[in-house]
Amino acid sequence: MKNEKEEKKNTLMEVINLDEPLARHFSLGEMLRSCTADYFGIDNVPTYEQVDNMRALCQEVLEPLRKKFGVIIISSGFRNERLNQAVGGRPQSQHIRGEAADIHVPSPEQGDKMFRYIRDNLPYDQLLYEHRRRNGCSWIHVSYVRRRRHNRHKAASYWV
Ligand SMILES: [Zn+2]
Repeated sequence: MKNEKEEKKNTLMEVINLDEPLARHFSLGEMLRSCTADYFGIDNVPTYEQVDNMRALCQEVLEPLRKKFGVIIISSGFRNERLNQAVGGRPQSQHIRGEAADIHVPSPEQGDKMFRYIRDNLPYDQLLYEHRRRNGCSWIHVSYVRRRRHNRHKAASYWV
């Protein structure tokens, strides 16, 4: 017998084409993928509007960043409210709207270069270079809003 949770997940995820390209090198699947969602059985399904927000982020920020630095790994893209709670995200997190992504930082040197490149060359709303005190792990959070002139260009680097 099929478990109910699994059946629901299939139904919702079936309508989504995870291979849908959002930009030349970024697919919808990359922005939805989440180990935490898999672990808790959370359907991380976006609305059309949230997909449009992700597309803008990919085209305006992530794709130009990839062009400069090569392959980029998104550690967290879109999060629906349940997933955002599960990962301990802020209630107003732009991840919930599909406007933000966390980028894996392969080394401190590369992280510094990527942070400065985005800050000085690309359009963005918020850019955070976050370092976790507990384990020294770092990532870059970047967001973009579709109404271009509403992007605040706020950048910061800090330890959490
Ligand atoms: Zn983030």
